[in-house]
Amino acid sequence: MNNQNQPKVAIIIFGATGDLAKRKLFPSIYRLVKNKKIGENFVVFGTARRSWSNEEFRDKVKQSITDKNSSEIDLDAFVSHFYYHPSDVTNSSSYLEMEALLQDLEGIYQTEGNRIFYLAMSPEFFGDITNSLNDNGMKNGGGWTRLVIEKPFGNDLPSARKLNHEIRAAFKEEQIYRIDHYLGKEMVQNIEVIRFANGIFEHLWNNRFIANIQVTSSEEIGVEDRASYYDQSGAVRDMMQNHMLQMVALLAMEPPIKLTSEEIRSEKLKVLRALRKIENVDDNFVRGQYGEGPDYPIAYQQEAPALAKSNTETFVAGKIMIDNYRWAGVPFYIRTGKRMSKKSTQIIVEFKSIPMNLYYKDKKEQHPNLLVINISPNEGITLYLNAKKSGTENEAIPIKLTYDYNQINAANSPEAYEKLLYDCMIGDTTNFTHWDEVALTWEYVDPILKKWESTPAEFPNYKAGSMGPEASEELLKEDGFHWW
Ligand code: NAP
Repeated sequence: MNNQNQPKVAIIIFGATGDLAKRKLFPSIYRLVKNKKIGENFVVFGTARRSWSNEEFRDKVKQSITDKNSSEIDLDAFVSHFYYHPSDVTNSSSYLEMEALLQDLEGIYQTEGNRIFYLAMSPEFFGDITNSLNDNGMKNGGGWTRLVIEKPFGNDLPSARKLNHEIRAAFKEEQIYRIDHYLGKEMVQNIEVIRFANGIFEHLWNNRFIANIQVTSSEEIGVEDRASYYDQSGAVRDMMQNHMLQMVALLAMEPPIKLTSEEIRSEKLKVLRALRKIENVDDNFVRGQYGEGPDYPIAYQQEAPALAKSNTETFVAGKIMIDNYRWAGVPFYIRTGKRMSKKSTQIIVEFKSIPMNLYYKDKKEQHPNLLVINISPNEGITLYLNAKKSGTENEAIPIKLTYDYNQINAANSPEAYEKLLYDCMIGDTTNFTHWDEVALTWEYVDPILKKWESTPAEFPNYKAGSMGPEASEELLKEDGFHWW
């Protein structure tokens, strides 16, 4: 049964035989159906070069669904909404064939001409695809039309501008949904709620009471089978320019006057505009590349023959300063890398210590108040306070107050891609990246990329399975802090 609020839509996936489609998109569409976010009026039209039949495509979709034991959904009925048409996106004549097929399917599934074009392909094809969609009338299905684009959006500011120019020749900014899947994560979305719904935090959320903020996103895995892609990218492009700076913007922004996409974006943009320009890269940023470690015998440069002399960073740590009234003087430290000791994305807000602590004999034992926001894989919040050490007269010990999101919401918590796909269907752009944000974040990181690409590093400089190079510890030590 379709209910009134369920979007009606045709989802056209370019790159339907690829990894992203299999691992993220098909399972997300399945969950949207399972959670009754979409009903019967949807159709998925996949395309790529491989000459699959509809049946082969549907088999692949079935295989990609991992929670298929759910009795709530008939899997055959679900995959019957999936169709496949082989085509090479560089061949302009294939778009007319696709348009004809799509129109038929839209008639069968009554999708009212609403179309999402999902480009799950390498960005080198984006310009060609959007042009051909425009030239062949595929943008005008009679309903709304939206374009979803994956990262990376360019390699630097000039290439991002060029890419944007190509896409904008065919689509308006409000039709473009640039995915940053971190913005779909439940706890990233929770940053705003924790801040703006709690006086005890928001009143203290400034340079008078916060000493520093640390954002870490560490991965245990290395580059796996994506070595050649990763080597063109590195940690700054892969993680910092997008996910890390987006989290910084959410942590630092002013409360929006309303919870609309425009108002939230406008506040995030103010933060990105206030990022202090990087003048001396190596004073504020540390790069790393993993070597062998006790549990991982393969260094980055041994992952593939082409990486033998690679100068690409698999780790970056940095100190970001925001020159505005609220944050003047407060460092935001970010760090992200591969082959680190644990998989974790975490934000730690370190509050300033009180002027005189009566309860710790040794000043070194004194523990500042910390607010820890766990983004993944655990989701939750922990607040570190000090309390009386039982059995003593005047001694304190740090205690933790923890809210474990997974225990309470695990079953209902939607996946990032599921949420973002649904947001796109209902036209909510809040958790997508606007071009202005893309431009400002590239502008910020470009000096780092330029400097590092032109100066060879002494790599490897951290052991696989560690938390990065020693210089990353030094970066905080110079300011009297340390990574928690
Ligand atoms: P992938 O596995 O290499 O898939 C690429 C797709 O493009 C395949 O379906 C391929 O199918 C198709 N393709 C290539 N050339 C084509 C052509 N000329 N005409 C038509 N189809 C063509 O890549 P992916 O990992 O899915 O990534 C897709 C995009 O998502 C990339 O921009 C990537 O950076 C981004 N992304 C991926 C992930 C992830 O987890 N995988 C995460 C974040 C972002 P055929 O070979 O059958 O043509």
